[in-house]
Parts: sequence; structure tokens; C-alpha cells
Amino acid sequence: MATDKSFNPFRMAQAQFDKIADVIGLDVGARKLLREPLREYHFAIPVRMDDGSIEVFRGFRVQHNDARGPCKGGIRFHPQETIDTVRALSMWMTWKCAVADIPLGGGKGGVICDPHNLSNREQEAICRAYIRRISRDIGPVADVPAPDVMTSSQHMLWMLDEYEAIHDGHYPGLITGKPVGLGGSKGRTQATGYGVVYTLREALRELEIRPENTRASVQGFGNVSQYAIELYNQMGGRTVCVSCWDQEDQTSYSFRRQDGVDLQELRGITDRFGGIDKQKARDLGYEVLPGEAWLDQEVEILLPAALENQITEENVQHIKPSVKVIAEGANGPTTPEADQVIHERRIFMIPDFLANAGGVTCSYFEQVQSNMNYYWEMDEVLGKLDMKMTSAFMAVSNLARRNKLYMRDSAYVVAIDRVATACRDRGWV
Ligand code: NAD
Repeated sequence: MATDKSFNPFRMAQAQFDKIADVIGLDVGARKLLREPLREYHFAIPVRMDDGSIEVFRGFRVQHNDARGPCKGGIRFHPQETIDTVRALSMWMTWKCAVADIPLGGGKGGVICDPHNLSNREQEAICRAYIRRISRDIGPVADVPAPDVMTSSQHMLWMLDEYEAIHDGHYPGLITGKPVGLGGSKGRTQATGYGVVYTLREALRELEIRPENTRASVQGFGNVSQYAIELYNQMGGRTVCVSCWDQEDQTSYSFRRQDGVDLQELRGITDRFGGIDKQKARDLGYEVLPGEAWLDQEVEILLPAALENQITEENVQHIKPSVKVIAEGANGPTTPEADQVIHERRIFMIPDFLANAGGVTCSYFEQVQSNMNYYWEMDEVLGKLDMKMTSAFMAVSNLARRNKLYMRDSAYVVAIDRVATACRDRGWV
């Protein structure tokens, strides 16, 4: 979410698109179509507040492209939500679904509100009113929302319930992020972190490096990071450093143990926001270092899995020569300037929308299961996830090798080419 007023995420998304459109010589018609969303909805959400007054919130749903299948993307609640943020995120969803090769397009939604200042009843009222405004334009075969920043499975269930009341039937395929047992998929919690490591495993194979001969340093200790560490450690790798945000001190710290961090032990001293207790960590033999220290460790693998804008022009030089692979678990952790340096240093980059596509892939599995009303066991979900992530990685890395492209550019080329082809084959452009 951009708080810097001069930063426009949609202009950035369009600039990225233009660059790749030039690389692949995309025709003018496809360019015009793909630079902008297909459709967008802006609406008022009037809600009676707990004190009896009426508040009118603004809601958006943007459908960037659905040539490959129904739109897919979260609905976020945020006080600084802007239409351009939602447009950018919907475009990125189109590329993410395409690179993962799932039959879905890109969408995104948002409401300008701050859930911190809203009661549960007020939030429920916003969810239900949001669906009443948009229920004709979304649905299992049109546009499938999901949770995002400050929305949870509870918000998804309120939205589903309202949709089902309007359409008079059960449509669990309307929305994803539902709890297991009420239309959710097993494996969703693990999916993003495991997905990162499936792509990392393939990158190491390509570089002919054995996972057991590698060490990793990780930024973040939340959902993505913890499951990435779990699978990476199972593969034989050694995680030597993790970092997290400290709520009390309002700064971040890194926690290092050269013989490897013990995931269970660290989880035991971590709060639900992914913050590790410093004193308990020291007692367990961890060195507590400044927040930035995760980046300058003598390791083979870096996993930024916290937030955007973390590897920048100012700190990219701290990356040690030992680093061979960066797998971006977070969205947008590397700035374009730092990316250029990483490219020149020939560090193998697994870009965010490929590396962290495990989440949306499992959401797609949730939708498939919901539509057929038959739910898979964990092994089946994770097996299918591994297959999808591995083939997504192969398509991108094969093209990168063949055309001597940087991995991030290659991922964009694969994604944009797939979407443009679908638009062309349908006779749209
Ligand atoms: P989370 O809230 O579970 O965890 C975030 C972690 O980052 C916490 O440990 C927090 O302490 C840490 N953190 C916050 N600020 C930090 C800082 N300045 N320095 C170091 N650590 C810091 O979040 P998550 O779900 O794991 O998501 C992490 C990233 O992955 C985000 O960019 C998110 O958009 C992206 N992502 C998540 C999913 C998913 O399925 N969860 C899917 C795709 C992408």
C-alpha cells in the first residue's frame, strides 16, 4: 500500500508491462487492451454504524483481464486504499495466474476503511453491502474474490453467505480463503511457503547445487517464511538467520545461529504476528542482530519473505559473494535499481510472482474442489501444488536460458505472451 503520494503503483505496473511488450514486439491492439483493466466497478457502501449513524464507505472491484478464465484476486480493507493500487494489483494477478498456468485471470477489490476502528458487526455490514453492490458481476464463473490485507476467512464467509442469499443456492466456488470444513482447501496455509521452496529446489538443481550444501537467510517469520523454512530444512538445507518486526521496539531484528535455527523452538517463542521474543531467543543461544543483518549473511540463499522495498540501491552491495539464489517470497521486495545489480552479479533470481504463486495456485485448487463439492486430502493438494510450481518454474527458466533473459523478464514474457495469445485466439485483438 503506497503511503507516498508521488508513487503510483498502476503507473509502475504499466511501465513494467510496456517494457516487456517492447521485448516481445507485442502488437498495438494487444498493448492497448492489456495496459488497462477490462472493467472496473466503483460503488458506495452505506453502513449503519453501532452508534446509529450512517457511514458511507467507497468500494472497488477491478477486473483486469479474464481471457484465460474467471478473474481472481483478493479484497483488501485499508484506510489508504486507492483505485490505482487496486488496478495495479489486478494487473499483477493476471500475470501471476498466467505464469502459474492456472485457468484464471486477474482481479482485485478494496474498500477504503480501517478495520481497527470498526466493530465485527460493522465489518460484517460492509462485507454484505459490498456483495450486494457487486453480486451481478462476480461469481464462480466470472470473478472469484479472496482474502487480502486486513480481510480474513470470516469476511469471506459473510460475503459468501450474502451472495448465496441473493442467488438462492450454494455457491462455495464464489470465493476462496474459506476455512477447511466450510469449503476451504487443505494445504492453503503451507502453500505459499512450500511453493517458494519447490521453485528454489528446481533452481538449485539447475545450478547443480545440492540443498544439503546450502545455507539460507530469511527476512520475515510469518506464514510464508515459516513454511518455506520448514520445507527447506526438510530438504537438508540449513537456515542460519531469520528476521522479524519487533512491535515493542518498533524496529526489526535478525536472529542468527550458525548451526541452524530450530523452527519448532522459534515458533514456540513467536507471537501470532510473526514477532520473535528477543530475550527468550538469547536464552536459547541465538545472536540478536540489527534488522538489516539478514541480508549480509555468508549464505547461498536469500529468502525475502516479509514485505516490499527491502533490497534497495543502498543495501544491495551488502549481499555476500557466496549468495547464489534469491527467492522472493514477499511481493516486490527488490527495487528496480537493486534488481539491476543482482542481474549484473548473475545471482539466480526467482521473481515474486513466480516464487510466491503457490498461494494463488492453492486458491485455484480450493475453487475447483468447491465447484465439484469434493475435497482432497493434504497429500493430493501438495502433490498437485509441487507439479504446478515445478512446471511454472521450468517454463520460465527454459525461456530464460534459451533467450538469455533475466529470470524476472522471462517470467513476464511467459505471462504476457500467454494472456495476449488467449486474447488473440478469442478474436479480441
Ligand atoms: P505475515 O504477516 O504472516 O508475516 C510477516 C513477517 O514479516 C512477520 O514475521 C513480521 O514480523 C515480519 N516483518 C514485518 N516487517 C519487517 C521488517 N521491516 N523486517 C523484518 N521482518 C519484518 O505475512 P505473510 O503472509 O508471511 O506475507 C509475507 C509477504 O509475502 C508479503 O509481501 C505478502 O504480500 C507476500 N505473500 C503472501 C502470501 C500468502 O499466502 N501468505 C501469498 C503471496 C505473497
